[in-house]
Order: sequence, then structure tokens, then C-alpha cells
Amino acid sequence: MNFARRLDKILPSKTLSITNRVLEMRKAGEDIISLGAGEPDFATPEHVKHAAIDAINKGFTKYTVSTGIPELKEAIATKLKKDNNIDVNPSQVIVSCGGKFALAAAVLALCEEGDEVLIPSPYWVSYPEMVRLAGAKPVFVPTKAEQCFAFDFDELQRALTPKTKLLMFNNPVNPSGAVYDEKVTDNLAEWLKSTNILALTDEIYESIIFDDIAIRSLASYPEIKEQVITVNGVSKTYAMTGWRIGYAAGPKKIIAQMAKIQSHTTSNPTSISQWAAVSAISGDQSFVTEMKAAFKKRRDFVYDRLNKMSGLTCTNGLGAFYLLPDASYFLNQRTGKGKMKDVVELCQYLLEEYRVAVVPGNAFGVPNHFRISFAASMEQLSEAMDRIQAGLHNLDS
Ligand code: PMP
Ligand code: GLU
Repeated sequence: MNFARRLDKILPSKTLSITNRVLEMRKAGEDIISLGAGEPDFATPEHVKHAAIDAINKGFTKYTVSTGIPELKEAIATKLKKDNNIDVNPSQVIVSCGGKFALAAAVLALCEEGDEVLIPSPYWVSYPEMVRLAGAKPVFVPTKAEQCFAFDFDELQRALTPKTKLLMFNNPVNPSGAVYDEKVTDNLAEWLKSTNILALTDEIYESIIFDDIAIRSLASYPEIKEQVITVNGVSKTYAMTGWRIGYAAGPKKIIAQMAKIQSHTTSNPTSISQWAAVSAISGDQSFVTEMKAAFKKRRDFVYDRLNKMSGLTCTNGLGAFYLLPDASYFLNQRTGKGKMKDVVELCQYLLEEYRVAVVPGNAFGVPNHFRISFAASMEQLSEAMDRIQAGLHNLDS
């Protein structure tokens, strides 16, 4: 059968296929520790669950306005002003089925054949595929592990061409854990102003920043606010990955185009989840502080264990819940089955023989690395570090 040509270069999401494989192996009775797909292991806060149950009981189980209920758009606009100093009217907000769909709708609304999209690398697995789905070309802007994945303005300038339409900017970064402070965004805002390109900023990990780093949303710089679409969501901040609520805010004319796409594809995100999101965003925020403190402990523990493993090096993650160790030293060593070809085989070996799931770095543009999500309990993380250490130790050089 002939499929649409735009799918020729699209791969299934590697983060999600690892989750699927873990679920299959667990179903077959295997004891797998998953440090694969990143989702907080905490329960959704009680008051948020209650808001959803209330919504069901009150009969909010029908279609809503396809861009989201006014109460949620209002809560999002208030949050953006309070936390991010972004001035938007609720009519400049669209609520989508996860931040993922908000990002995809923005890319589809803005980009087409002939356009180029700048993506700092390492990047979240879905960015390039969204760009390819839109028919446009991802152009990677490398950042270096040796420099803690610092933003590289020379590389950015080098990658800019007359075809550049958009920059996808993730802060904090999945998968490296890099966090770009205000100095970086000051420079980026100035650079964006000197170009006529747009920026799609993904702030989904904004509330998971360790240490004292002040970040600033690009849309809060008045001189570029017409060039910026901000994406965020409740998945990570409130441990609500399954509820599927994300959102975008930005210039009205761009949001209107995204709304067209949404109205013909998903319609509204789940009515019940929208009410839960109102409660999450406007309610008590103490859950977030507790979750962040737990993540920081885990980050410190995993970072320390990884760097004690002979042959492995790892820069520290300043935000999000990922670490990205460099496994170059092991990549042409031998398992019991023969010489490994690449990091995919290393991750397969760790999964099949040592029952710990991590994601190969080629999913994120860094083929010598693998990604660890430390969104798991300390007991699981400790056992997983033992397993990884044993797996790496038992390779033959
Ligand atoms: N952006 C990044 C960088 C992510 O890691 C994720 C997590 N899947 C998302 C966006 C989207 O999350 P969700 O669709 O659950 O809101
Ligand atoms: N954002 C998470 C990750 O990168 C969830 C899985 C996904 O949607 O890709 O693992």
C-alpha cells in the first residue's frame, strides 16, 4: 500500500515505544525498572481528582468550546501573568490535548514545504518529527555536553537562513536537564528581534528547576511578544500526564489558525480534565514544592552514582527530571551476544539482560548518550543504578 509521502521520514516516538515495551515485559511477569519515558511517578493531587469527580457529577461531560472552557483559559491567562509576566487575554489562549498537540498544532499552523525550523540539539524526540509532518525541514543547532549543553549563539546564527521560519526553544531542556537563565533569554530576545522569525517556547518543565536559577519566558520581553508562542501544560507540574491538558498562548492570529486545526482534528480536550486543570492551576500549589524537593534528592543521588561508574560521564541536570550520561566508552564493547553497534544496542542490552529501561540518545540527536528519567522512587533508582553498573561492568572491551 502507498502511504502519504510525508510519513516516509517519520519514526514512531522512541520514548513511547520504550514505554510500550516495558509494559509488555511487565505483563509477561518480568521485573523491569523503567527510567524510560518521563512522567512524574507522584499521584495527581487530591483536590485535582475531586474537581474531576465534581465535573462528572455536575454533568460536564459534553463537548466544550473546542479551544477550551472560558474558566480554564481565564486561569491560564492569570497564571501566565502571575508566574511568567506574560500579558495575554484569554482569547489568546488555546487548550489542547497535551502540550504535545499544542506544539504540533503551532508547527502545522506556521510551517510548510520550503520552511526551516531551528531546533537546539539535544532536543525532545517529537520536535523534528512534528516539523517533518508539516513538510518543513528541521535544522539542528548543536550544544555541547562538555559545556553543559550551554546555548550556542554562534551556532544559532550560522543555522539561520532566509528560509528559517521558527525556533523551537525548550527551557528547561528535555533530555539534557539544561536550564537557560535570564542572561541567555536576554540575548535570545535581542537576537530574535533582529530576525523576523517566530519562536515556539516549550515551558512544560518550568516548575522543576533545582538550584537557584532565574528563568524568564521569552513572551515576557515586550519587544518580541508578537513573535512568540508559549506552550505549557499540567502533565509535569501536577503529575497529570494521563489527563492530556496542555495549552498555547500567543498572538491572536496564530492562535486562531491553531484553533482551525484543532476544530477539525481533536475538537476540545476532555471536558472533565479541563475542570481538573482549572483546579490544578488555580488551587493550592504546595504539591509542586514537595515534588520538586523529591526530584532534587533523586537528581543528586543519580548524578553521584552515574559519575562513580567507571567509563561513564554525566553533566548535571539543573532542571526537568532527566540526566544524559555519555556512554561513548562502552559503545563498541561486547555483550554475551557479540559486539554492540550503537547506543540502541546498549539500551537493549540493559533492558533485556539487566531489566532497566533507558532511552537511547539517538532519539534526541545525541547518539553517544542515553537518557535516564529519575522520576522513580529512591528504592527503584538505587536498584536501577546497581543494575546499570553491573551491566556496564560486565561488558567486554
Ligand atoms: N514538551 C516536552 C519537552 C516534553 O518532554 C513533553 C512530555 N511528553 C511535552 C512537551 C508534552 O507533554 P504533554 O503532551 O503530556 O503535555
Ligand atoms: N515527555 C516524556 C518523555 O520525553 C513523555 C513521553 C513522550 O511524550 O515523549 O519521555
